[in-house]
Amino acid sequence: MNILIWLQRDLRLHDNEIFHRAGDEGHHILPVFVFDEAESKAFHSGLSRWSENKKTFLLECLSDLRSSLSAFGVPLLYREGDTVDVLSELFAAHAIDEVWFTDTAGTEEQRRQEQVCRKLPHRSFSGQSLLHPEDLPFKEEACPGVFTAFRKKVEKYGRYREPLPAPSALRPIVASFEDSLPASSTRSFHPNSAFPFRGGESAGLDRLEEWMWMEDRLREYKETRNGMLGTSYSSKFSPWIAWGCLSPKFILKEIRRYEEERVANSSTYWLLFELLWRDFFHFTWRKERGHFFKVPEKAHIRSGRSLLLWQEGRTGQDFIDAHMRELLHTGYMSNRGRQNVASYLVHALKEHWLLGAQWFEHSLIDHEVCSNYGNWTYVAGVGNDPRDHRVFNPRIQAERYDPDKRYVRTWINKES
Ligand SMILES: Cc1cc2nc3c(=O)[nH]c(=O)nc-3n(C[C@H](O)[C@H](O)[C@H](O)COP(=O)(O)OP(=O)(O)OC[C@H]3O[C@@H](n4cnc5c(N)ncnc54)[C@H](O)[C@@H]3O)c2cc1C
Repeated sequence: MNILIWLQRDLRLHDNEIFHRAGDEGHHILPVFVFDEAESKAFHSGLSRWSENKKTFLLECLSDLRSSLSAFGVPLLYREGDTVDVLSELFAAHAIDEVWFTDTAGTEEQRRQEQVCRKLPHRSFSGQSLLHPEDLPFKEEACPGVFTAFRKKVEKYGRYREPLPAPSALRPIVASFEDSLPASSTRSFHPNSAFPFRGGESAGLDRLEEWMWMEDRLREYKETRNGMLGTSYSSKFSPWIAWGCLSPKFILKEIRRYEEERVANSSTYWLLFELLWRDFFHFTWRKERGHFFKVPEKAHIRSGRSLLLWQEGRTGQDFIDAHMRELLHTGYMSNRGRQNVASYLVHALKEHWLLGAQWFEHSLIDHEVCSNYGNWTYVAGVGNDPRDHRVFNPRIQAERYDPDKRYVRTWINKES
């Protein structure tokens, strides 16, 4: 068969059922990534969805996949425009039998998928989450609304599948295409960046090898994960996971191998625990769909001047400003930082949480709809959190997590 592989957030060869099957079953393939025109539309506020950091990271992911595919003689096609139009045109031009894609969470993503499915013969696969939807110990629509209940059920009755190996052979439909992938600007990383890494499956796998095995950081992850400075305190897997360059199932396989070969302790468990948080938001989204965002459809949300000061890291609260400047410069921020700046925007500056979430969507190189909007509703106290508010006091947080002010000095002295 001739298969059009529509890539979205599954930019990898390992544990990608689409490439695995296409290789195994000997189909001819045409992989394409469409930068949908809707993605170029700004939010109502005028804010674009793509910071330079985020766009560059995506282009790096695509460029890496393009070179991995070219080793099989398969070109990766990049197009910009209306996804349905682009896919329909390719479908007709290359005598395609079916479009294959990984089912991707998100309101706009699902709408696009439905449009494609209405028009073209297709097949969808699961591959975004750690747990396969069929292995959940409950029906998707009965997914527990609180993380602890979700985790306990999954830990007791759930099943984790093995990751699939990368394909050993792939057959192209067309040998070459005029290369349309925009060149990613060669980045020089900010000297203080906690994320001085490039996008793409190769860099993601290298990072796993380095952090888990060479630097041996997993054994103390639970103690270091609330850090804010440097590359080592946490895995930094999120941007690669978000674009599908690293598979959560592969990470779990490596955790299990580490537990056998090195040590099994509360830190090795905690990395799985965090991956379950991601799955929790993923499956909550799948259950709630449009209701996930907790915002009335036509809510009129005004922003005040404090939103701008927060975005630019100029609120006057050093611990908050340092984090917002890190985000501005690098497209990344620690989990501790994210909780603090989100809480500050909502509870101290009294801005609507949605505006903060949109700023994160614009800025973060690891932006994922479910994790971002899920965490924001959680911090704002409008999600499924049984506690009303998660209010962080930045002064107390700074004393606890940055007692010698190294973090604040790193980001504030340099520029103000
Ligand atoms: C307001 C807010 C917004 C966020 N937005 C995003 C987002 O858009 N994309 C994103 O990937 N994460 C988001 N997070 C979660 C978390 O901050 C990042 O996943 C984490 O900081 C990434 O760094 P790491 O890979 O080194 O994490 P590690 O501590 O090494 O964790 C390993 C992995 O577990 C997952 N994970 C960890 N914590 C969470 C969490 N709270 N929720 C969901 N998954 C988690 C991530 O995939 C992460 O890569 C957000 C958190 C908050 C408070």
